Amino acid sequence: MRQGTVFDVKSFALNDGPGIRTTVFLKGCPLRCSWCHNPEGLSPEPELYIKLARCTHCGLCLRGCSHPDCRPFGRCLHVCPQGNLSVAGRLVTSSELAERLLRDREIFGEDGGVTFSGGEPLMQADFVAECASLVGKRGVRRAIETSSFCPPDVYQKTLAEIDFVMADVKLMDPAAHRTYCGRDNGVILENLTWLKRSGKPFVFRVPLVPGITDTDENLSAIASFAGDCPVELLPYNPMAGAKYAAVGRAFPLPALEKQNQEERSRILQHFRNASMRQ
Ligand code: SF4
Ligand code: SF4
Repeated sequence: MRQGTVFDVKSFALNDGPGIRTTVFLKGCPLRCSWCHNPEGLSPEPELYIKLARCTHCGLCLRGCSHPDCRPFGRCLHVCPQGNLSVAGRLVTSSELAERLLRDREIFGEDGGVTFSGGEPLMQADFVAECASLVGKRGVRRAIETSSFCPPDVYQKTLAEIDFVMADVKLMDPAAHRTYCGRDNGVILENLTWLKRSGKPFVFRVPLVPGITDTDENLSAIASFAGDCPVELLPYNPMAGAKYAAVGRAFPLPALEKQNQEERSRILQHFRNASMRQ
């Protein structure tokens, strides 16, 4: 039985695929998208998560603590009067995770199911495949939210255990992808090209980051690549930077305003026009 590291499991998720879903968030991502709103999913290792806004700097947690939960983090996790300290990431076996996910089976209805998210779930591909297989054998539908950044053989083998794929398409220009996501998009486009031909149900998801991914040039290139495939345009999350300090990171972007209604309509129209020209 394989082990994996997860940092959250959320029941009743309504935006992580069809129907009502339980979403499991897996640790670790090879990309560094500047707008990522899950910084606690970036490192593959469990890490200290401190709610700094509520910290009174009393110093209690900084006193030595020999509890095995606390030792790796150099702080006492249990003493804070505000309950500010926790660890993002815990090791579970695929059967433990499957049992937890199956507890929600009654609420999934006809369309819902389990969604593997992150981080990048394909960084723990074998663990995801094993867990997906276990829940699939009990009749639960499996979806994945993925950047598609992984070796093509891993991509294809893991998606064999997945019923529905939500695949990010962020930036088509390789240089812009390197700048804003930290890695080249060559293998992503290779995997997405395979996905388009695979016969597997999927949707391309485009995060609309103001001035970065929502430009006419990028959206035209995405429309051209997607052709008549289903595409969802996701509004920018202005709270994207909220959790960075909690895991000791700095949010790389300046504060960006979410597009207003007029801008969203224009972007949508531009994307529709570009799609129709294909
Ligand atoms: S114990 Fe809590 S309030 Fe005190 S310093 Fe630590 S995190 Fe802050
Ligand atoms: S691929 Fe997703 S999890 Fe990874 S850095 Fe980008 S937005 Fe964050």
